[in-house]
Amino acid sequence: MGRLSGKVAVITGGVSGIGRATVERFEAEGAKVVVGDIDDAAGAALANSYPGTVAFQHCDVMVEAQIEALMAFAVERFGALDILFNNAGAGGSYNTLAEMTGEAWDYSQNLLLRSVALGMRYALPHMKARGGGAIVNTASIAGTQAGAGPIAYSVAKAGVIHLTRVAAAEVARDGIRVNAICPGLILTNIFTPASMTTPDMASAIKAGMAQTAPDSQPIAKPGLPEDIANAALFFASEESAFVTGVHMLVDGGMFVGPRHSW
Ligand code: NAD
Repeated sequence: MGRLSGKVAVITGGVSGIGRATVERFEAEGAKVVVGDIDDAAGAALANSYPGTVAFQHCDVMVEAQIEALMAFAVERFGALDILFNNAGAGGSYNTLAEMTGEAWDYSQNLLLRSVALGMRYALPHMKARGGGAIVNTASIAGTQAGAGPIAYSVAKAGVIHLTRVAAAEVARDGIRVNAICPGLILTNIFTPASMTTPDMASAIKAGMAQTAPDSQPIAKPGLPEDIANAALFFASEESAFVTGVHMLVDGGMFVGPRHSW
């Protein structure tokens, strides 16, 4: 407890899944947390559950002005910005190269990669004013190997990994660290028909995750949002003070084990 005492964090996509678990973890460790998300009703309810320590601000990470406003809101509401968890995302179009359209490509790059670059860009002035900070970006195992996700999604996530390195080098002398997490299969709402173009595939993945995990990864169970929140806490806290520019796989060993079969 208290590993983030006195810190102010912004978490995008903080209403559900990995983001929500991280909001709760950071709050429990003493941080003030601003949640940016497009789900206004659930966001307001989440903030109401933590009066005085969690605040919600509508933010569509596809919209540059809303990202800039989110960072400013954190400073206005809690007086500073120390930690940014660039986490918002959705599955996008689950299609192959042969099926892909330019529109599907642009959607994934904008939602998953451009958003992370702009999040960092608009957090920087506030972190520099504070004398340092920690940025954590959600990438994916799909950004590290072929066959673990749809093409536009996978390439955007690979971009997040390299963007993390480039940004880390740029801002290290400002006392700001930048790291990425690559989740494997984590049980969240991302595996719902609404976030995929093929509902059958969505339900098959969700229903089959528990059964397929033994074949797809050495640790034979799906991951939980809390598993990623723990990694985010490490990167956000002083325990990782000498770590920057890296990506950590939190995937039950999927990267080193046999591939899943969807
Ligand atoms: P989730 O659907 O439970 O949560 C995603 C959150 O992002 C939701 O609260 C949603 O409202 C929000 N969001 C979606 N589009 C947004 C936008 N344009 N602007 C702001 N907020 C938006 O999913 P999750 O699994 O917790 O996903 C979180 C991150 O983890 C994503 O970046 C995802 O790509 C990544 N990821 C997830 C898995 C997994 O297995 N669940 C694996 C690898 C990577």
